[in-house]
Amino acid sequence: MAELFVSDLHLDAQSPAANERFLSFLEHEAVQARVLYILGDLFEAWIGDDDPDPAKGRICEGLRRLTDRGVPCFVLHGNRDFLLGTGFAARTGCRLLPDPVLATFDAEPVLLTHGDALCVDDHPYQELRTTVRAPAWQQRYLRLPLPTRELLANRVRRGSQAHTSRTVPYVMDVNAAAVSAVWRSGVSRIIHGHTHRPAIHRDAFEGRPVERMVLGAWYEQGSYLLREAGRYELRQLDYGAAGAGAAASR
Ligand code: MN
Repeated sequence: MAELFVSDLHLDAQSPAANERFLSFLEHEAVQARVLYILGDLFEAWIGDDDPDPAKGRICEGLRRLTDRGVPCFVLHGNRDFLLGTGFAARTGCRLLPDPVLATFDAEPVLLTHGDALCVDDHPYQELRTTVRAPAWQQRYLRLPLPTRELLANRVRRGSQAHTSRTVPYVMDVNAAAVSAVWRSGVSRIIHGHTHRPAIHRDAFEGRPVERMVLGAWYEQGSYLLREAGRYELRQLDYGAAGAGAAASR
């Protein structure tokens, strides 16, 4: 049985086509898997486990159906849905993992991460990340009334889009030294998303083969990484490929 990995679905009420693709993916591909890993940015935004968006509610129900059918689903936080909490986990049956996390497949350690922490050239973003990941900041934010949280989330989203559009591409990609630090630790495989640049990068580090697998975003087409019999393959979903809006910000 296969392990499946997805990332950067960016689902909400504004992405009806992607929502349907993902619900269908859960019903068809994921239900046959041994396990599903969601490596962050499942949602375009998450303003707390009381998030009232009914579109996200449907996604949570789809995840619940999957876990009820015995397929474990592990979720990492992305830079958009870093407030997914115990309420989300209880509602869906998904288990939240820390980012990064070292998984083991057939005795081989594989580093799973959303990927934003590897993009250390993006200084303004890293500063924001440090702020919003602080428990005290999160507690303060979650105590605000829902409309205020929504307002602030939209403001951050617009700021992030503006930042993305004026930042040169290499700054938005992973930093080579940050990746080398992972190889130096002895791990030879990384799976991440965030950059929206799907690819399998095969390289060598100090004479040893290493592999960085990057998951694609779901703005235009659903895609996932499949691991079966020790082999990895990036796959695209060929149903419901109707446009889901512009691929823009991360
Ligand atoms: Mn991201």
